[in-house]
Amino acid sequence: MNYSKENNTKEYFISEFHKHFDGTPRIFRAPARINLIGGHTDYNEGFVLPVLLERYTTVAIAPRDDNELHIWSENMNELLTFSMDNLKPRGIWSDYIVGVVKELIEENFLFSGANVCIMSEIPIGGGLSSSAAVEVAIANGILSLVGDSMDKCDIARVCQRAENKFVGMQSGIMDQFVIIHGKEKHALFLDCRSLEFEHIPLLTNNIRIVVCNTKIKHELAASAYNERKAECQEGVRLFKGICPGINALRDVSLRRLTELKNTLPEVIRKRCYHVVSENERVIKSVKALKQNQYAVLGQLINESHDSLRDNYEVSCHELNTMVDIARSLPGVLGSRLTGGGFGGCTVNLVESEHVDNFIREISSRYEEKTGLQPEIYISEPVGGAYELV
Ligand code: ADP
Ligand code: MG
Repeated sequence: MNYSKENNTKEYFISEFHKHFDGTPRIFRAPARINLIGGHTDYNEGFVLPVLLERYTTVAIAPRDDNELHIWSENMNELLTFSMDNLKPRGIWSDYIVGVVKELIEENFLFSGANVCIMSEIPIGGGLSSSAAVEVAIANGILSLVGDSMDKCDIARVCQRAENKFVGMQSGIMDQFVIIHGKEKHALFLDCRSLEFEHIPLLTNNIRIVVCNTKIKHELAASAYNERKAECQEGVRLFKGICPGINALRDVSLRRLTELKNTLPEVIRKRCYHVVSENERVIKSVKALKQNQYAVLGQLINESHDSLRDNYEVSCHELNTMVDIARSLPGVLGSRLTGGGFGGCTVNLVESEHVDNFIREISSRYEEKTGLQPEIYISEPVGGAYELV
């Protein structure tokens, strides 16, 4: 789904809401995120460098007074109802949404029910974090019903907790954080330990960020994600035995890792090597961006993919095919998988004059090789979640 300019209005979203519910809704929007570099570093208390893409999840929300939650998702084409006194995971799409409601109630943000209409143009399960977008839009919507506000970092934490506890995905804070704090025409350099961040200007006149959706999602994704996190924790445990000051892979330098590598089992060593080297690549990428060195950034993006593929082992045939095609095309400075892996999207840094050719070639060659028609998204980085007034 992609809303045309005419449909991208408050009136349109209200009229969609009225197909299912009565009342006067407020409208909350949250964009998709693309992580330029910093794959699987967030839950290791490391660094990331995401931007926001101009595709939104929109939530129209109005109060009820009977302690019930009625949620319609246009994408799922389904209406689900819940009693607010009994919010439990059902193992289905609504868990991401109900989890946020539950967390807010536990924080004492109390309300008497809601009608919710969700409309998203973010590919679902495509690695652009439709999950965090819907969580953030819902959180902002519920807070508006309660008539209260919350610190922005706390909103990100509530949404992350919903995903960790209610859905069972042990994901980090990057997605929710950038979806709330992102800035137009900037990337966000985030320290996932301290939550200190810096907006880094992206001069995209000569360079475009092009996202290619492989249109595949392997079932492995969720369990492998949690498995990788456990492997990193095992690495930390082993390091801690030698250097008590190490509390996360963030605390390990490349030099230290090289010194100690023989003390680690092969798989753990590879996972640690990815995270430690990826943190260094993020720092170098920020430096490159500040100096307008897009070729350097592109090279780091390529190295990031190779490490995710070989050391972290979260890529897949379709992602590697997409990346290989991209790198063979003129004007491509870098290409990597973005998001958790095992399908979803690649992010590509492409010189503007080559973008048309890039889109044509990647579409036809990827389809030739896999039988799948990719989707391509291009946009200037947009700002974070907002209320449409
Ligand atoms: P992504 O990479 O898109 O974040 P995830 O698997 O993490 O992929 O999250 C996708 C899940 O988020 C969906 O299966 C669903 O549970 C929830 N979700 C996201 N967008 C919507 C929507 N528009 N309507 C209903 N559920 C949604
Ligand atoms: Mg997600």
